[in-house]
Amino acid sequence: MKYPKLLEPLDLGFTQLKNRVLMGSMHTGLEEEKGGFEKMAEFYAARARGGVALMVTGGISPNFRGRLAPHSSQLSSRRHVKKHKIVTDAVHQAGGKIALQILHAGRYAYHPLSVSASKIKAPISPFTPKEMSERMIKKTIKHYARCARLAKEAGYDGVEIMGSEGYLINQFIVTRTNKRTDRWGGSYENRIRFPLEIIKAVKDAVGDDFITIYRLSMIDLVKGGSNWQEVVQLAKEVEKAGVTIINTGIGWHEARVPTITTSVPRRAFTWVTKKLREEVKVPLITSNRINMPEVAEQVLADDCADMVSMARPLLADPDFVVKAENDQRDLINTCIACNQACLDHVFKQKRATCLVNPKACYETELVPQPLNFKKKIAVIGSGPAGLAFSTEAAKRGHEVHLFDKANRIGGQLNIANQIPGKEEFYETLRYFKHLLEETGVNLHLETEATVESLTGDNAKIKFDEVIIAAGVTPRTPAIPGIEHEKVLSYIDVLLHKKPVGEKVAVIGAGGIGFDVSEYLVHEGESATLNLDEWLKEWGIDRMYQEEGGLLDEAEFTPPARQVTMLQRKETKMGKGLGKTTGWIHRTSLRHKKVQMVTGVDYKEINDEGLVIEHKSSGKTETLAVDNIVICAGQVPNRTLAEQLEAKGQKVHLIGGADVAAELDAKRAIKQGTELALSI
Ligand code: NAP
Ligand code: SF4
Repeated sequence: MKYPKLLEPLDLGFTQLKNRVLMGSMHTGLEEEKGGFEKMAEFYAARARGGVALMVTGGISPNFRGRLAPHSSQLSSRRHVKKHKIVTDAVHQAGGKIALQILHAGRYAYHPLSVSASKIKAPISPFTPKEMSERMIKKTIKHYARCARLAKEAGYDGVEIMGSEGYLINQFIVTRTNKRTDRWGGSYENRIRFPLEIIKAVKDAVGDDFITIYRLSMIDLVKGGSNWQEVVQLAKEVEKAGVTIINTGIGWHEARVPTITTSVPRRAFTWVTKKLREEVKVPLITSNRINMPEVAEQVLADDCADMVSMARPLLADPDFVVKAENDQRDLINTCIACNQACLDHVFKQKRATCLVNPKACYETELVPQPLNFKKKIAVIGSGPAGLAFSTEAAKRGHEVHLFDKANRIGGQLNIANQIPGKEEFYETLRYFKHLLEETGVNLHLETEATVESLTGDNAKIKFDEVIIAAGVTPRTPAIPGIEHEKVLSYIDVLLHKKPVGEKVAVIGAGGIGFDVSEYLVHEGESATLNLDEWLKEWGIDRMYQEEGGLLDEAEFTPPARQVTMLQRKETKMGKGLGKTTGWIHRTSLRHKKVQMVTGVDYKEINDEGLVIEHKSSGKTETLAVDNIVICAGQVPNRTLAEQLEAKGQKVHLIGGADVAAELDAKRAIKQGTELALSI
């Protein structure tokens, strides 16, 4: 067996877990949709069939005030139980186990009825919470117990009490948010009274034969957060109170340190859980940026925890565990930690799904149509859209021929993986490479498909369908002097590795402008591949000597180049980037002293550099730069499509070849998959 520690059962006394994989809590958005519980049942059942030992639902509030948003779910009465039973029955039939997460949002609640330990507004919410009275605190503790009892009635195997990420329980624990002077505030003993009373009430309500997980914030990553001695004290008390397992929480939502995105090194925080391992005996779960079986195995081999929590990796691939068991590691569709289709959707009140797996949370909807006729299909372009289409169509039984002029698959994925902090894109390429073989797609690299080769009299194959996934071409803006030798395209820089001088202007501040700037200010090894370096850059104290686990100051490696990023719009830079990741890209570039200039007109490129006019003042300025890198968006590659259509051949356009504006891998993979399921 390749992953003996990961696949080893865990005996909890009254029940056994079949391996060491916990699917961490994730809000899917289905909780609030009409008919969502039926869809959720299949979502969780698929992961249960895929071998996960224990899953935790998205956060469900124990009462009205604790809801995350006005219409978020709560479990507070018998009438809610029936719906949850649909989920638990499906999971049990599939051989899995599932626990309900009880989450009271406290001051993170996005509505005016929010409450907290003290009346202090969160920096990430517009609402100021009401300070909870003694009576309200006692009632809330009872509501946690009621929620746990109802969860047991609904057939759940356990509950997870959400005590981390800055939600209500966390708000009681730390002085940052708890300024009370009664028995719920002041000393640490008083501040942890709230979680301990909750655990006691929950245990009284559900007994000892029910899994009780406590999610403990092991490193708050905010000023005024807990110090290490306090974390240990809480863990010991929580253990004494009789929880079955302690899960790890890393960072509050308001922390200005990334904790799960793609630029965070793999297993960046397992050292924190390991530190606690020396202090308590109760099984510990560790978490954050564990996305492949070998990473999880090593975490367990290093004795960091008893179990690993993976949430998004199981959104990306429901069969992660069975693939690990069956020695099919290379066929795992790896979560690239982009947040683009999961968290970013949830924050926009949209149903979560996954960039690399658009079927996630659409298990009952995105299903293949029955195949009446096996078609011969030509696919032009092996970028994300072409790869997703080809593999999915081949799985359905079609004969698929995938053509690419290049000598390797991937299209724009080969550009994305060059960016420091985006190394996970290599995994997407590895996955598709193996899936092409597995599904029997006929791959024709270094082969330019033409009208003649596809439809001419001498064409070797008579294709029933032609799919154009030919991608995009960088836009060349009409700036006087655009032909100057100082001008480079992002492809010149990222793919052809053309030399770039010390002073650079980047024209365009979309996703690619940000990526190119990130690339240009770095030299040597990416900090994502060097944990100590990364922790220093984000000001995290590995010695954990200060409260919140933060250093007084972050330590940055000086930028490799002096970069100025420009855009014509006057709006904030990076506005179109992901909701949960845009701030990280902006902060990272600020750390590297990148100048961000908005509201400009490009007047000329000459031997001196780039001449711009500031729209607000009308002033002209010459940026004395060595190079100007153009990242001004893209236009679709449609020439072949137009030629084929002129010959009367019907084609299907997908990905950037269809619409180049605001193209990203999420749309490309989704479009490719959807077409393949129905063609
Ligand atoms: P984009 O996001 O559409 O940005 C294009 C940039 O070029 C804008 O800043 C635009 O700003 C500027 N621009 C457009 N036309 C121009 C012109 N004629 N002259 C000068 N400037 C012009 O395109 P992209 O950066 O190429 O990215 C493509 C897609 O990939 C995007 O949808 C993006 O979301 C995705 N992507 C995302 C990420 C990420 O999330 N980190 C990374 C890479 C790519 P002004 O019009 O204001 O000048
Ligand atoms: Fe992972 Fe991105 Fe999919 Fe979210 S959308 S599960 S972060 S790959």
